[in-house]
Amino acid sequence: ARLAGRPAVTPVPLGSAEIGGPSFTVIAGPCSVENRSQLLTIASAVRASGADALRAGAFKPRTSPYSFHGLGVPGLRLIAEARELTGLPVVTEVVDVRDLDVVAESVDMIQIGARNMQNYTLLREAGRTRVPVLLKRGLAATVDELLLASEYLLDGGNTQVVLCERGIRTFETSYRFTLDLAAVTVLKERTHLPVIVDPSHAAGARGRVVPLALAAAAVGADGIIVESHHDPASALCDGAQALPVEELPDLMRRLEHACAAA
Ligand code: PEP
Ligand code: MN
Repeated sequence: ARLAGRPAVTPVPLGSAEIGGPSFTVIAGPCSVENRSQLLTIASAVRASGADALRAGAFKPRTSPYSFHGLGVPGLRLIAEARELTGLPVVTEVVDVRDLDVVAESVDMIQIGARNMQNYTLLREAGRTRVPVLLKRGLAATVDELLLASEYLLDGGNTQVVLCERGIRTFETSYRFTLDLAAVTVLKERTHLPVIVDPSHAAGARGRVVPLALAAAAVGADGIIVESHHDPASALCDGAQALPVEELPDLMRRLEHACAAA
């Protein structure tokens, strides 16, 4: 349910769903596509939970050059298959401007990740597409810098932009990133673009994901993007923060209550 007295939001379509519309949007799925059965298993569970869309990375920006960087284009094909199978719209990240066209034609929403929030060439090119963009806040970006980054997309004529608070670098080291929920309230004052929250990368550990997701609903976010896996212990990327897919239905129920209470 919509928060009473919320400021105006321009909804952004995500397949047959929309972000910033009457209901809170949940995008769920693995950090990365690992193989066909992994993705299809998780996608089916995401569908069954009642979530609105599937996330999965085919191109992964990784801190270490020796880590798994995703399956690339074959991963995009698996994402397309999962979309076909479940009917869920799909979101995936593009990390390199050279892959923009193939990503844009494969998915319902292009994710520009935190590490690329100020990749102005990528922003300009994504602004020339007409595919909705999920723009994540940089690890050390101010709200002003996030808003100016979004202007690169809008200036190119791509008006379908969703902002995402995913945690910033602070002095605190007891969790992965500091989820800046105050920034969500500021963004709600300053832009009509929908704002969602990624509780997973801030939490860094699955036990903290649900409380942060509920806090996002309480603070007036338009939705969340949450990492989930059928076998987190085997995940090739971000397994520690992945919510087991069996826990998604309960998260959906609790989010509904949190939105109703907010
Ligand atoms: C992700 O969504 O898996 C990701 C890499 O996010 P971020 O860009 O916020 O670190
Ligand atoms: Mn991740």
